[in-house]
Amino acid sequence: MSFTADLHLHSRFAYACSKDLTLPNMASWAEMKGIDLLSTADFTHPAWLSELEGCLSQTPEGHLRYGGVSFVLGTEISCVFKQGGRSRRVHLLVFAPDFPTVHGINDMLTGLGAKLNGDGRPTVTVSARDLTARILDISPQCMLVPAHIWTPWYGMLGSKSGFDALDECFQDMTPHIPAVETGLSSDPEMNWRVPALAGKAIVSFSDAHSLPNMGRELTVFAGEPGYRDLSAGLNKNRVEKTIEFFPEEGKYHLNGHRKCGVSQSPEETDRSGSRCPECGRPMTLGVLHRVEELSEGEPVDEALRRPYDSLVPLVELLSLSLGRGRNTKTVVEAYQRICHQLGGEVRVLTRANREDLAQAGGDTLAEAVIKIRERQVQIAPGFDGQYGTVRPMIG
Ligand SMILES: [Zn+2]
Ligand SMILES: [Zn+2]
Repeated sequence: MSFTADLHLHSRFAYACSKDLTLPNMASWAEMKGIDLLSTADFTHPAWLSELEGCLSQTPEGHLRYGGVSFVLGTEISCVFKQGGRSRRVHLLVFAPDFPTVHGINDMLTGLGAKLNGDGRPTVTVSARDLTARILDISPQCMLVPAHIWTPWYGMLGSKSGFDALDECFQDMTPHIPAVETGLSSDPEMNWRVPALAGKAIVSFSDAHSLPNMGRELTVFAGEPGYRDLSAGLNKNRVEKTIEFFPEEGKYHLNGHRKCGVSQSPEETDRSGSRCPECGRPMTLGVLHRVEELSEGEPVDEALRRPYDSLVPLVELLSLSLGRGRNTKTVVEAYQRICHQLGGEVRVLTRANREDLAQAGGDTLAEAVIKIRERQVQIAPGFDGQYGTVRPMIG
């Protein structure tokens, strides 16, 4: 038995997030996509928390459920602090085993001066290390995972306000951090080369701010969808595989300056310097550059490696094969019909056979899905906040 999990997303109570992110919608989209376990997200927000307490049911085994989908209590917290003479900004995913623990965490955060009824992703001014210690003090069953570790801002290893190693950030708490989230702009292969991450499970989630983006990255764990097996999954690395973006599709893959339309590979920047050749301002150094800075030649820690799939969201492939925008009625209806017919987006992209794909979505779509699986793609990498594009080589 295994389960598919998306544990980094947001509710409608987080800034810049869709008003459609309600529990019923999140559950029905998870079913359509084939996601077994979702984070509730944003448990720090009082209005959202009371909705969760009112609407989630508990199974005899203690799993939280809504509709056909399991949930764990999770949130993201932004730590903004000074350490080593520099200002640091680190986002952490936090998971709690039960509602009383959530209330304990929220009381602690309020005591630290955090404003919980604004952004569903609250900010605290204590270090990532101190926040970890305080949360584990409330319950040692809580789990903390640094979020999108490579993003220039808010990533634990990011080029702008991060650290050079996990233990520089978490110090004596490092052994209590079970896993790291790679973010959209990196994939496991890039992370295997980084000694600073040795010993930690590598997980991928969507960081969705809207329903269609849920599950765009996922982690498959061994066991049953619930807190207990998630805990074993993270702490004992029972990750079976991750489902990833092509890292080039992420919006911070290469170095660059978006305003000037300039993007560079790490090698080009090494040769010509880190300023934009058009305007002379500093470029935003992307994830690939940062990974190369912190990596050593040989891939590390073979035992921790897990297989992964690199995929392009079905809605993008449909938009391409139907020649319509991804938000058009034609594409949205085709998406829902195909997911329904073939057992969810994850299955469509990873396992459905060519005949079934062609029958449900036409020959061009079938061709596109197969080409992506074979990594027959054309790539325009993302940089400085601009998403990249990855297209199957068809036609
Ligand atoms: Zn974040
Ligand atoms: Zn520029």
